[in-house]
Amino acid sequence: MVGMATTHPRAERAAQARAAETQLAADGIDGVVFGWVDNAGLTRVKSVPLAQLEHAAEYGVGAVPCFDVSLVDDSFTAAPSSTGPVGDLRLVPDLDRLTPLAAQPGWAWAPADRYTQDGTPHPGCQRRFARQVTEAIERRGLSVQAGIEVEWVVADATGAPATLGPAYGMTRFVEHSDYLREVLRALTAQGLTVLQLHPEYAAGQFEVSVAAEGPVEAADTTMLVRHTIRAVSARHGLRVSYAPVFTEGSVGNGGHLHLSLWRQEQNLGHGGPGRHGLHPDAEQFFAGVLAELPALLALGAPSVASYLRLVPSRFAGAYRCWGLENREAALRLITGSAAGQANAELKCFDAAANPYLEVGAVLAAGLAGLESGLPLPPETPSDPAALVAAERLPASLPEAIDAYEKSALLRQALGSDLYEAVLAVRRAEAELFAGHTDADVIKAVRWRY
Ligand code: GLU
Ligand code: MG
Repeated sequence: MVGMATTHPRAERAAQARAAETQLAADGIDGVVFGWVDNAGLTRVKSVPLAQLEHAAEYGVGAVPCFDVSLVDDSFTAAPSSTGPVGDLRLVPDLDRLTPLAAQPGWAWAPADRYTQDGTPHPGCQRRFARQVTEAIERRGLSVQAGIEVEWVVADATGAPATLGPAYGMTRFVEHSDYLREVLRALTAQGLTVLQLHPEYAAGQFEVSVAAEGPVEAADTTMLVRHTIRAVSARHGLRVSYAPVFTEGSVGNGGHLHLSLWRQEQNLGHGGPGRHGLHPDAEQFFAGVLAELPALLALGAPSVASYLRLVPSRFAGAYRCWGLENREAALRLITGSAAGQANAELKCFDAAANPYLEVGAVLAAGLAGLESGLPLPPETPSDPAALVAAERLPASLPEAIDAYEKSALLRQALGSDLYEAVLAVRRAEAELFAGHTDADVIKAVRWRY
């Protein structure tokens, strides 16, 4: 149950690349794309031909540092650690996760870590942050299993939803039978365990969920799943949007984060003396997450558009509370049909989030809950919208930024460089869209995520 995304020293990485090259060549792979996610939540890539893989694995490929402060519209802001146009970083692929891409024949993919030019980890590397927090949890003899649901809207070449069939409707499955089959096949061929694939509520919306794994691996997987769906869609002449809201006033695209806490082989969300079988560690962990949730939204719901999605009655979890199978609570507890399945679902997050920042920060908050023995508040067993005492989560990006700025916990966990870079990006995006109508915001980011 231990999620281990380790880093390898240079010589090992080179040896790994040499070993992989023969197989990749036999599989007809011509190039490898290295993916990472910036603080705005956009996946950025570089690629190398197969012949350059060994060198790239050993030394990395150049990566411009100003992408630490890139915004959703590809403009740049500045943070205290910014060096503007000067300097370079190295993008180093993690070949443990090297995957031939089923929907892009001839290409393989690997998630990347960012290093400085002298070979030390870059303090602004989001994947490294997620790994560090994962290791801190493991030092307590615990581990986390995580999974991020992917919701997306498929659109035709004009940008209109490509199916108008009803929510969860068979019509959508019939209309897109070949497409959905190819999505399933591509994900499975890439070694992913698909749990479910279904039409979602909003027009043109679908959802896929995959098996839980270690936090860093789950973040990697999210990048891979989204990339794969996009590639399959392109082959079918379809466009894809993971934006928090596609159609104004309608249900949006969530990126719900499922979490379970384990001690060795024991799921601490099952068979314990607490509420619904929670063990004390799990109660404290989830209490820590709830306590920090307003600040965590700056990472899990990072876009101005996120707050057009995060509203009551859309199953988006707009209230700071928890409840068993409560789909309006930000934290929905799920007991599942077997011991291993019990988990908590953070519904308030969306797919504009950088998944590494999201899982790292949530784990840091959970860890703080464990360390201080925080009690889990009373359960909310009904729709919080009907309760006078219900607490809404931040209703705008500026409100989430306020909470983030007050979070000593996140500043400490992220480290000053990463914390400040994220803050600069959030402030700049809030500024970018200040005074825009909802429709303008949705239009501006619809095809960016
Ligand atoms: N699409 C909804 C959201 O924005 C979630 C629907 C559901 O899966 O419960 O989070
Ligand atoms: Mg859903």
